[in-house]
Amino acid sequence: MWKKKDFEEQRELMVKNQIVARGISDPLVIEAMRKVPRHMFVEDSMVYESYGDHPLPIGKGQTISQPFMVASMTEELELKGGDRVLEIGTGSGYQAAILAEIVLEVYTIERVKSLAERAERLLHSLGYNNVNVIVDDGSLGLSEYSPYDAIIVTAASPNIPPPLFEQLKEGGRLIIPVSDIYAQTLIKVIKKKGNQVKQRLYGCVFVPLIGDYGYK
Ligand code: SAH
Repeated sequence: MWKKKDFEEQRELMVKNQIVARGISDPLVIEAMRKVPRHMFVEDSMVYESYGDHPLPIGKGQTISQPFMVASMTEELELKGGDRVLEIGTGSGYQAAILAEIVLEVYTIERVKSLAERAERLLHSLGYNNVNVIVDDGSLGLSEYSPYDAIIVTAASPNIPPPLFEQLKEGGRLIIPVSDIYAQTLIKVIKKKGNQVKQRLYGCVFVPLIGDYGYK
């Protein structure tokens, strides 16, 4: 049986070898990756793999992303302490916890109720009271609390859902994996004078975004 200290050691090694060594440099992101107990967000049978350099299953056919992918997407959001952020695809709640370490308020939407409930319980038990978990189709965004400083989509979409771009603030950043026939590309969209300024980041693999503006 591993002890708390063993997980802390594994987490430090993860940050050193997978995050910092590969060029993540935002101190807010590095500090968040140091703090959030990733092993608590995976299934019991996977706990000893939780700091490995890969995604892991979290049930219901869904996955928690590789640590580097979480750190890189978070860095691309260019977050500041006072920001309000929307996440689509709560899954385990791990990415939401990373965001909650950095920003003022996190809204996270999950379409699978059982995953949302488990994530919400865990996040609140860990003291992340600035995370709001909502069960719904996140491809429509969450207009109630919009506009957001940043929006992160952690499932692959056929294109950029128009409501998500609408719900960004001027200067806001949207990070989203967009699929084409052969592969998925992580896209960064910045809202400048109401227009989409797009940048292709790199190739990636995510589970599909299922919903009105995702896959049917
Ligand atoms: N960010 C998560 C990993 C997400 S896996 C983590 O840190 O663990 C992608 C998640 O997106 C899955 O849980 C899936 O159920 C959810 N999802 C897919 N389509 C969705 C939609 N339209 N709205 C909200 N959630 C969606």
